[in-house]
Amino acid sequence: QAVTDQLDKEGIAWTVFDEVENNPSVATVRKGAALGKDEHADFVIGIGGGSPMDAAKVIALLCTNDLDDTQLFTGPYQKPLPIVIVPTTAGTGSEVTKYAVLTNPAAGTKQSVSTPLIFPTISLADPAYTMSVSETVTIDTTIDALAHAIEGYTSQNATPISDVWAEEAMRFLSIHLTDLKGPISYDVREDLMYGSTLAGIVISQSGTTLVHGMGYPLTYYKGFTHGRANGMLLPFYTKLMAETMPDKVEKIWEILEVSGQDDFAALLKDLIPETVPLTAEELAAYVKLVMPTRAVKATAYDITPQILTEIYKGLADR
Ligand code: ZN
Repeated sequence: QAVTDQLDKEGIAWTVFDEVENNPSVATVRKGAALGKDEHADFVIGIGGGSPMDAAKVIALLCTNDLDDTQLFTGPYQKPLPIVIVPTTAGTGSEVTKYAVLTNPAAGTKQSVSTPLIFPTISLADPAYTMSVSETVTIDTTIDALAHAIEGYTSQNATPISDVWAEEAMRFLSIHLTDLKGPISYDVREDLMYGSTLAGIVISQSGTTLVHGMGYPLTYYKGFTHGRANGMLLPFYTKLMAETMPDKVEKIWEILEVSGQDDFAALLKDLIPETVPLTAEELAAYVKLVMPTRAVKATAYDITPQILTEIYKGLADR
């Protein structure tokens, strides 16, 4: 309403596309782009959580590019329509990233469109629009943002500059990890929005790592939300990182004000209590999907199929 009121005031015609589902599919963004072309849209505004924001970015891209289902994820791309983003959750950081994650049935998982061309032209990250977010979604999205900060901080592609943002993001998110249940004040929402936007800036530089890579099959096949899947996997990841980059992991504990690995795992278990028993077939299929991904390559650990199998097995009894 706030957006359309403003557009009306400026005399700018608009059309709503409101068919974006959770974890949007390739078919959905094609449908949105067809509408954009029919209406001769000059720009695209994405309003919502990660799914509508990511869909808007790809719709803007498809309005100016003819891409088949393979090219959609590889490019090359021409300039998209200008993209305006209004997040209504504080989590994905999509308002400041060059990524859009889609469900791709052809690949049997979630896949990212990644190009600097889909950095939003304008983002309006106003915490006022996150006030009515439910407790579950608040927890899921905050943990997703925390995963972005921690993965970005420990990625092979981390830089001294992205580390500054990662530490700041962890600081703003972690002070509220115990405030996520029950009613949440504007001040807390503001910190969560700031922290998640900073964490988005981090992953735009560093990318995500093992947690996101391993989380996608849990969302695609098991229906766990993105943040919930990441939250279950995060402690397994920090345990690996403690071996290869103990100094950075110590710094994470210091910023999060937890005593160490066990304390961190307990904190996440309290927020996200789910367990995931997987069959031998599921384990084998997920490991096969995850091994060749960019997320594994960005992980600062010599990842083997055995390590992935052990982590997925560990979700049954975390
Ligand atoms: Zn994420």
